[in-house]
Amino acid sequence: MTETHIGSIVFEELNLYDHEQVVFCRDRVSGLRAIIGIHSTVLGPALGGCRMYPYKSERDALVDVLRLSRGMTYKAAIAGLNLGGGKSVIIGDPSRDKSEILWRAMGRFIEGLHGRYITAEDSGTAVADMEYMRMETRHVVGISRALGGRGDPSPVTALGVFSGIRAAVEEKLSKSDLRGLKVAVQGVGHVGIHLVRHLSDAGAKVFVADVNAASVAHAVEAYGAEAVDVAKIHAVDCDVFAPCALGGALNKTSIPELQCKIVAGAANNQLADEVEDGARLAQAGILYAPDFVVNAGGLMNCANELDRTPQERALTQAEGVYGILKSVLRHAEEEQVPTYQAANDLAMRRIQELGRVNQMYVGTGSTNTRSYS
Ligand code: NAD
Repeated sequence: MTETHIGSIVFEELNLYDHEQVVFCRDRVSGLRAIIGIHSTVLGPALGGCRMYPYKSERDALVDVLRLSRGMTYKAAIAGLNLGGGKSVIIGDPSRDKSEILWRAMGRFIEGLHGRYITAEDSGTAVADMEYMRMETRHVVGISRALGGRGDPSPVTALGVFSGIRAAVEEKLSKSDLRGLKVAVQGVGHVGIHLVRHLSDAGAKVFVADVNAASVAHAVEAYGAEAVDVAKIHAVDCDVFAPCALGGALNKTSIPELQCKIVAGAANNQLADEVEDGARLAQAGILYAPDFVVNAGGLMNCANELDRTPQERALTQAEGVYGILKSVLRHAEEEQVPTYQAANDLAMRRIQELGRVNQMYVGTGSTNTRSYS
């Protein structure tokens, strides 16, 4: 590939997603190959997890980091947080390529950005990896409680999803509680299992599926859930379908098979194609609670870790997903747009409005100086 060709790919993609900065990181000794995507710092430092994945090509890694970092901008904005959007990806196999030196090299690169980017756990990375990076940079969250962090954010994410389900049920089914409602949870991992607990406590009938049989057995034994085949969970006749496994659960094949009235779950990028699948759900009369609105609890937890506020504040904010989703649904109704579009609009509005406030200080020597140390 010629230099010109590489350059044109990068800037083509940057223009497409409208990014501020992309940093390519390479370390010969550890074998690190990573990309850090900073989509926007208008609202604050760009926060987003570090994903490790054996990408088939550099282009796949670039597209992933750009798409994910833009999603973080929208998520922070709609959640009312003073954070921008960023993400990083490491090209490598998490089961084989991890080493102390790799994480410390990555930590060095993040430190070099002086707080413009703050990292956290994501797929393929764990608390222990964050702690190696923390040896080189302060700009890491999601570290263990023993080191002054908040540990696993999943219970807070689950509380946010549960609060979103309550709001969606009230809007779509005119019910103020979940007693007797049927909810199908796809994936009972870190977030899914806590969601099952909330649903079961609220008196809902819960169906679960997971490729991991032990996780299913735990949900059945601990919370009285009913196990369903992995291939059939999305098609269960229920009130709410909660995708809590992988992205792309809502696509041209699965949507026509849905039997639910509401989709609200933790998984990121649930719509395989945002525009087409968002429209398919709207046409089917299914209320789609946008993923980045209802799964923002984990990010709220990280923001509170940075602010060093008590854990209760993160829980209160996660419960606030109820009100945030209600505003999104109201906007969708008023503007006659699909719910994912309404969420994007409200997120963009906040970024533009606060961007104008920041502009007010240009020329006075003061800019958006919000940072965490
Ligand atoms: P996890 O890996 O702990 O859980 C995912 C579960 O899905 C696993 O138990 C896995 O076995 C199962 N699974 C995989 N493929 C499946 C399939 N085809 N059908 C059914 N189950 C399947 O991950 P998690 O932390 O619980 O996160 C779940 C989703 O929520 C992910 O998309 C993640 O990006 C998103 N999310 C998580 C958080 C968080 O705080 N952990 C925050 C925001 C978004």
